Amino acid sequence: MSKKWVYFFANKQAEGRADMKDILGGKGANLAEMTNLGIPVPPGFTISTEVCKYYYDHGKTYPEDLKQQVDEALKRLEEVTGKRLGDPERPLLVSVRSGAAVSMPGMMDTILNLGLNDETVVGLAKLTNNERFAYDAYRRFLQMFGDTALGIPHAEFEKALEKRKEEKGVKLDVELDADDLKALVEDYKEIYKKHGKEFPQDTYKQLWAAIDAVFGSWMNERAIKYRQINNIKEGELLGTAVNIVTMVFGNMGDDCGTGVCFTRNPNTGEKIPYGEFLQNAQGEDVVAGIRTPVPLEELKKINEAVYNELLSIMERLEKHYRDMQDIEFTIEKGKLYILQTRNGKRTSQAAIKIAVDLVHEGLIDKETAVMRVKPEDVERVLHPKFDDEEVKNAKVIAKGLPASPGAATGKVYFDAKKAEEMHKNGEAVILVRPETSPEDVGGMNAAEGILTARGGMTSHAAVVARGMGKPAVVGAEEIVVDEEKLEFKVGDVVVKEGEWISIDGTTGNVYLGKITTVKPQGLEGEVAELLTWADEIRRLGVRTNADVPRDAKVAREFGAEGIGLCRTEHMFFEKDRIPKVRRMIVAKTKEQREAALAELLPLQKEDFKGLFRTMKGLPVTIRLIDPPLHEFLPHEEDQMKEVAEQVGITVEELKSIVEQLHELNPMLGHRGCRLTITYPEIAVMQTKAIIGAAIELKKEENIDVIPEIMIPLVGHINELKYVKKVVKETADALIKESGIDLTYKVGTMIEIPRAAVTADQIAQEAEFFSFGTNDLTQMTFGFSRDDVGKFLPEYLEKGILEHDPFKSLDWEGVGQLVKMGTEKGKATRKDLKVGVCGEHGGDPRSILFFDAAGLDYVSCSPYRVPVARIAAAQATIKNRK
Ligand code: ADP
Ligand code: MG
Ligand code: MG
Repeated sequence: MSKKWVYFFANKQAEGRADMKDILGGKGANLAEMTNLGIPVPPGFTISTEVCKYYYDHGKTYPEDLKQQVDEALKRLEEVTGKRLGDPERPLLVSVRSGAAVSMPGMMDTILNLGLNDETVVGLAKLTNNERFAYDAYRRFLQMFGDTALGIPHAEFEKALEKRKEEKGVKLDVELDADDLKALVEDYKEIYKKHGKEFPQDTYKQLWAAIDAVFGSWMNERAIKYRQINNIKEGELLGTAVNIVTMVFGNMGDDCGTGVCFTRNPNTGEKIPYGEFLQNAQGEDVVAGIRTPVPLEELKKINEAVYNELLSIMERLEKHYRDMQDIEFTIEKGKLYILQTRNGKRTSQAAIKIAVDLVHEGLIDKETAVMRVKPEDVERVLHPKFDDEEVKNAKVIAKGLPASPGAATGKVYFDAKKAEEMHKNGEAVILVRPETSPEDVGGMNAAEGILTARGGMTSHAAVVARGMGKPAVVGAEEIVVDEEKLEFKVGDVVVKEGEWISIDGTTGNVYLGKITTVKPQGLEGEVAELLTWADEIRRLGVRTNADVPRDAKVAREFGAEGIGLCRTEHMFFEKDRIPKVRRMIVAKTKEQREAALAELLPLQKEDFKGLFRTMKGLPVTIRLIDPPLHEFLPHEEDQMKEVAEQVGITVEELKSIVEQLHELNPMLGHRGCRLTITYPEIAVMQTKAIIGAAIELKKEENIDVIPEIMIPLVGHINELKYVKKVVKETADALIKESGIDLTYKVGTMIEIPRAAVTADQIAQEAEFFSFGTNDLTQMTFGFSRDDVGKFLPEYLEKGILEHDPFKSLDWEGVGQLVKMGTEKGKATRKDLKVGVCGEHGGDPRSILFFDAAGLDYVSCSPYRVPVARIAAAQATIKNRK
């Protein structure tokens, strides 16, 4: 038996199903599913994505038996519709539509009204008794076919249309009558001729040319770019399917129309049907943003019965798919047809609200809800907002539709390519366009925010911006964009390229100038609820990296369960500390050094008290001093004098000290535990500060503290042994003296490959491990963290590395060290706590690995804590499978 390439659907029966997206594409699979559900879908058939794969694997040729299968399906379609392709009296018209397994809205081609030619157009006019409509359909077909199948520039057709309207002195397409459109058809044919192209009068040839065009569009530039931006890898999808669907017409008069609707609001997630409708129009008019559509509720006034039918179908589809649906519909002479349904794209805010609501409505369970939300969604709902004071004083110059929430500020650029360029140069960009089209996607991705003058809430700009989580204001009609002069005008305000504006995608306001954006300070509502479900599911703990009480507080509000890394040296850089630190460094004798340290002790103790107080009873890991000492000394000539005075030595002496401390490879130099081995008195002071703070808090405020003292940059067990002994002697003496019962732990960072390899030995001394994956990555790859900018971007571009290993853990290399270190460590010490405190602690892909490797917790920056909570829950679910 030959392979099945073509899947038919008509009259409540389809050969495909919703779960066949891989081979039918999302559009095709859902058309089949809806047909089976008895929802009014015009009949048609789908050519599978496997044909697309075959097409590209075989030098753009088709499987041998495809033609026969298409012929058979076409014949069946002619039977069920009682029409025939190319029949002069009862012509069958179809749309030829693209659709891959993952929705790529507008990226590939679709041709409507196929089957029209000089003969069938007359038949269609007679059959519908509507000559104007027939010629409108014909000229649309000529235009789409010319553009899509033959590559004739779209703009030429637009120009001809504009010219006809001008000559007649009308504004709208619908004001052209049958004769005007007939003349326009002739204009269009001239355009074909001018380009040396022939319009095929043979409808069967039309069909295959359209099929070729759709398969061809799989590899067009914008589709490729879209897949890149959305991280769809080559080979992950088979290709696009081709859907051939009987045409229904929304442009036959005022009892017709077309629209797009969502079962819930895709911006806010509210359970309110939401959509837009255009009377007397064909599908592409809505999506292209050519005419501004009216809200869906208007349909209720126009035809209440159809409106109610649509609402009930929306509800059915949502229950059936258990998710918010994005539906295309057309009304032909009062009869409703559904042309597409898919899980709707939504803002991060809506994604979270809908997931939570669907759990409350009993449609999905908590795990499904947690899996449906992307970790970035959780981060994005913590939308930047404008600084309250600044925004009060800012000038609102226009208002558009609030298409995608969040506040953005940047310099105006009108061209997508330029926007990309400026972004690469490190500029904050707001892309301003009359309306966007798929060619602009790269620029939109590079921009902080998007502003358009035209288009509705389902326009290209709105849909794409929401998908990207970018703030967008669309349809700001007062704005006049002049792409030639590179400026836009609102009333008498002129904004030129490169000038600052700010947009608020939550309100639709457009402001002149730059406004500072600020991040929110906590969790509430649905996102808080969703995260409590994530907490129930996840195995990994989530801590934060925080050096000061302010950060610790933010992190706690975001749900951090402790501090995984407090970098003590950050405290040393404070204005009132740095002179004391410097005095310690330049000390000539141990006594001098101890005197300087004694001055630092009370300050550092206060810091720790603040941190412990904020973390009330939660574990706090404090790392002893880590960076090389020269970082605390000045290197500029003009600072030398001041600092020399400050610490009471001559400039010459200071210079010579700086010289002595100079290292060729400071990253591999005198730092970490190497410092405290040379100067144990630093470790003594820091231990006194940590333990002293804990004792005082217990005594004074009855706050329990679990200090974890962490020794950095250990590669050999004896390094740890030495410093641990100093720490323990100091700590135990203090505790004994205080008469208080205090437990503390001493552990180590695992950030040198040797430590990971000998983790079984190191665990004999260490009571906990924390993988410092930043340094571990640096040393495992032998990449200097400070110099990767010179070559890493190229590595990523050339595909030498798939991910930046400093952002997302290198599973095969660094990851194996983490895994081995954890296993070896736990083999020695069963209750060894193992965490990670590098950049990777907040990266979902890395978290998936840490969960599988059996770590106990991850630690990340305060704003990543919510992301880590959800990512950890997703990791638990995924790793269970
Ligand atoms: P996209 O994936 O870009 O949305 P579609 O294939 O869905 O492309 O089609 C583009 C527009 O044409 C949509 O508005 C759709 O509803 C409309 N359309 C497609 N097929 C038909 C048809 N058979 N009858 C009427 N309108 C159609
Ligand atoms: Mg569509
Ligand atoms: Mg380190």
